[in-house]
Amino acid sequence: MMRRNIKKILKEYIENRSKLNDFMGAVDYAQKKAVKNSDYPRETEKVKKMMDTIKKDVSRAYKEVTGKEPVSVDNIVIKVDGNIKAGKIASFKHPESKKDIGVMKIHPDALEDPEYVEDAIKHETIHGAHGLEDTEARNHGGDFQKVADKVELPKNRRS
Ligand SMILES: [Zn+2]
Repeated sequence: MMRRNIKKILKEYIENRSKLNDFMGAVDYAQKKAVKNSDYPRETEKVKKMMDTIKKDVSRAYKEVTGKEPVSVDNIVIKVDGNIKAGKIASFKHPESKKDIGVMKIHPDALEDPEYVEDAIKHETIHGAHGLEDTEARNHGGDFQKVADKVELPKNRRS
């Protein structure tokens, strides 16, 4: 009985782990494709590196504030892309779930202001960490502000 349960748990663990690896592989693949297909491959690599660092900071801050693991920070693809809604300089399509891939776009014009780009990525990554269900955070309230404080997102870049 005991042995059977352990076997079952091990089997589930291995299956889930390989599923997780498959999914992270899919995210990596989507990111590589984004670089390859971009009109701005080097710039896309650069913002990806920025996002990797920001992801770590936001994840740590989110855990400190909420005591929970962030919802969606690893399943986001970022690219430099001129095809953004008029007047906007960055956009974020939030992942629908942990098993969906979100897309962050940074307009090439924004690259002249690296601090702005950093803040834009921070802002959207904080949204990702909270997920879609936290409506207070979606409206930049509650824990959104606490996490923003910890990662030093300027107040004028929080809405
Ligand atoms: Zn926002």
